[in-house]
Amino acid sequence: MLDDYLKEQPIAVTILKNAIKKNRLVHAYLFETNGYNKSEELIFSFIKSLLCPNNFFASCENSNCNICTMLNDRCYPELKIINPDGMWIKKEQLDELQEEFSKKAILGTKKIYIINQAEKMNTATSNSLLKFLEEPVSNVIAILVTDNIYQLLDTIVSRCQIVTLNKNNVICESELETVANYIFSDKIKREEFVNNSENIENINNVKKFVEYYENNHLDTLLYTQKLWFNYFKDKEQNMLAYDIMILYYRDILNLKIGHALLCFQNNLENLLKIADKNTEYSICEKISKILKAKQKIKNNINLNLLLDNLIIDLG
Ligand SMILES: [Zn+2]
Repeated sequence: MLDDYLKEQPIAVTILKNAIKKNRLVHAYLFETNGYNKSEELIFSFIKSLLCPNNFFASCENSNCNICTMLNDRCYPELKIINPDGMWIKKEQLDELQEEFSKKAILGTKKIYIINQAEKMNTATSNSLLKFLEEPVSNVIAILVTDNIYQLLDTIVSRCQIVTLNKNNVICESELETVANYIFSDKIKREEFVNNSENIENINNVKKFVEYYENNHLDTLLYTQKLWFNYFKDKEQNMLAYDIMILYYRDILNLKIGHALLCFQNNLENLLKIADKNTEYSICEKISKILKAKQKIKNNINLNLLLDNLIIDLG
């Protein structure tokens, strides 16, 4: 089951589970594997969650389950796996697939095809796939797998939901350290920030502010003292808090589009709630508004007024 991979791949698993739970599956997934050694198992767990009604919340241990047995043996008739034939994935392989997949699913409710090493599609194959992706057949799900997303056509990538897997054994830095790495290019300032334990609280206070704002919008205007100015008093503290706020929204955006998170892996649940409330476009707008507001701090602007205006501007 997908939860078996939750610890190693928290973002990918959360995105996939959420899509199934909320019935928001898309027609095409692109798994960027980054050399993760259990990619295939994880992808099959996802497929089992889609096809076997017993496999979502718990492993389907039912030895009589036809679906899981066939999937384990890689012989489920409505799952087609395409691997490169020699150096390339050939156009004929795609033609055959499209022919087969133009008919409705007979066995289950969904038909799925996997294209392994998708970067090995040449131009003819890519164009053929592109056409297939442009006219999605209902209940057909494409799963593209690649270790090199940059070799795929942009037009293909943009039609897929990207699911990025982490490398094995990534070195875990603390949230404080990753935030510092993104905010300060200067090594001494970075160390100062990390060594000041108050900054853990500062990061948490910014998160709380964003979460409060996302739930209450303009009502936040009534509580700026309590939520913000009790902690962020002078120019410098405000600049820092705005930087953290931008990072937080960047991770909300990353989660929304399935990219790896920069800093806030430990806040998945809250990030997901906010991501659900916003479109990609609205998150980008918010980031750009916060950036603009931050630039005004340098000009000795009244900080209360600035935050009030920002809240109004964010809407
Ligand atoms: Zn099953």
